[in-house]
Amino acid sequence: HDSSNITKLLVVFTLSSGGIISYSESQSGHGVRTLEPSLRDVKKKKVLVLGTGWAGISLLKDMDISSYDVQVVSPRNYFAFTPLLPSVTCGTVEARSIVEPVRKIIKKKSGEVQFLEAECVKIDAANKKVLCRHNDDLLQGKGEFLLDYDYLVIAVGAQVNTFNTAGVMEHCHFLKEVEDAQKIRNSVIDCFERSALPNISEEERRRNLHFVIVGGGPTGVEFAAELHDFVQEDVVKLYPKVQDLTKITVVQSGDHILNMFDERISSFAEQKFERDGIEVKTGCRVISVSDKAIDMKLKSKGEVSSVPYGMVVWSTGTVTRPVVRDFMEQIGQEDISKIFSVADKDNSGTLNVKEFQDVIEDILVRYPQVGLYLKSNHLHSVTDLLKDPQGHESKEIDIEGFKLALSHVDSQMKSLPATAQVAAQQGAYLARCFNHREDCKLNPEGPIRFGESGRHQFRPFEYKHFGQFAPLGGEQAAAELPGDWVSTGHSTQWLWYSVYASKQVSWRTRMLVVSDWTRRFIFGRDSSRI
Ligand code: FAD
Repeated sequence: HDSSNITKLLVVFTLSSGGIISYSESQSGHGVRTLEPSLRDVKKKKVLVLGTGWAGISLLKDMDISSYDVQVVSPRNYFAFTPLLPSVTCGTVEARSIVEPVRKIIKKKSGEVQFLEAECVKIDAANKKVLCRHNDDLLQGKGEFLLDYDYLVIAVGAQVNTFNTAGVMEHCHFLKEVEDAQKIRNSVIDCFERSALPNISEEERRRNLHFVIVGGGPTGVEFAAELHDFVQEDVVKLYPKVQDLTKITVVQSGDHILNMFDERISSFAEQKFERDGIEVKTGCRVISVSDKAIDMKLKSKGEVSSVPYGMVVWSTGTVTRPVVRDFMEQIGQEDISKIFSVADKDNSGTLNVKEFQDVIEDILVRYPQVGLYLKSNHLHSVTDLLKDPQGHESKEIDIEGFKLALSHVDSQMKSLPATAQVAAQQGAYLARCFNHREDCKLNPEGPIRFGESGRHQFRPFEYKHFGQFAPLGGEQAAAELPGDWVSTGHSTQWLWYSVYASKQVSWRTRMLVVSDWTRRFIFGRDSSRI
């Protein structure tokens, strides 16, 4: 949903050659459960999956777990269908309708998966160990434990990015987790109830009913649209005295909202918001948030203004979690172009053919996608050179052009959109790699290696984009579909309903979500503060 990486899906293939002994439960003659080593499992490799979000669950659903000893660690024992979180903030859909228990998902698998509700706090890459913690005072310090692994799958998603803006952590709501959506729902209703109290001045009422959304990306825009619908369809009937005082403002630092969509969609959204009375402040940066006002700076003029608010939702994107950042530092993840700099010891800007070959080999092992890029783009000369180095042995190669081209590939590889679609496809890809690990050792399926015979074990991950939606309220949505096809309006909202109903992880949640939508059509939203 923003430019930073939400999904950090990494697999660490360890060099451990010994078998892992896992234990399976069996019934003794007295009906007592004992733990016995299962010989069948002796050679199974340990796969440790961190996270039960889009990537983690997609991996577990597609993986043939009978060949591995799988453990899953996550602080949440459920999978949440995040695209419907904005609908939870105003009660269009109930929180429990969009979550599915992890234990239910893994129970359907033929094979054993162990789930542990805990958070990974530290990864020790050198010793292949992970430190986990279950925060519960009742455990009196026994909630911490170590797990080891042969393969580690890191699918812990990302965390909200406050850009270190003063007061954001203390005074703003976020819309990232199910609990956040539930808190927002109660907070919205609180604002209306407070404004209906008798001793409140008109100015206080206006302040209480000013809802500010920071971030004009899909999440912020969808929340603004949900809130507007809630006010127009339900609140006006219940709080008739305060309806004219309600105001929704979207603050966006860029020039347009939904700027990652086609510009037809962002201008459709801006026009719709203008008609609906939702104020969109573009080119504006929030500099601090206090308990009652939000300070922002107009980028063009440098003017600073202080705007009183009742509630702020901060939705400006995400950053890598510290535990992942720490792990990436341990394994020395570096920019492709840096590999050239290391090889170019005398800083001459050139490498001889042999050195060049070594560098490219190193890059291809770390980044298999580069192979495809070299093959399909303007670097044919490199591939020829690598296939037939003899003819060029004495040649020195100017590396600047390659550095530039490869850092471009690097940034392309890193800049996949941070969406559920990408995360789910990455999870499914990884499951396929695990399922075909043995076959692919014998019959590799990846691209032909350059400079030597043979292939890579796996075909590189390739993202397939199936389009994206932006619900805009009033039963209207915008969609960007493959083939540069843009669709807006009421019919697109119906397409949105069908796609999101079909994408649910189980029939149970599908039924719950569809019945919530029907309930809302018939009875409206529930405005109780529970
Ligand atoms: P997540 O789904 O965030 O899962 C991370 C998992 O890791 C969670 O189970 C979490 O509990 C667990 N975890 C966290 N820390 C740890 C730890 N230390 N140890 C172990 N486990 C940990 N994308 C779309 O494609 N379409 C949409 O319409 C859309 N709408 C969205 C609306 C909202 C409100 C939000 C917040 C996101 C939306 N997204 C959408 C983006 C999408 O949700 C993310 O891209 C996706 O969730 C990323 O998947 P993930 O598996 O990487 O991470």
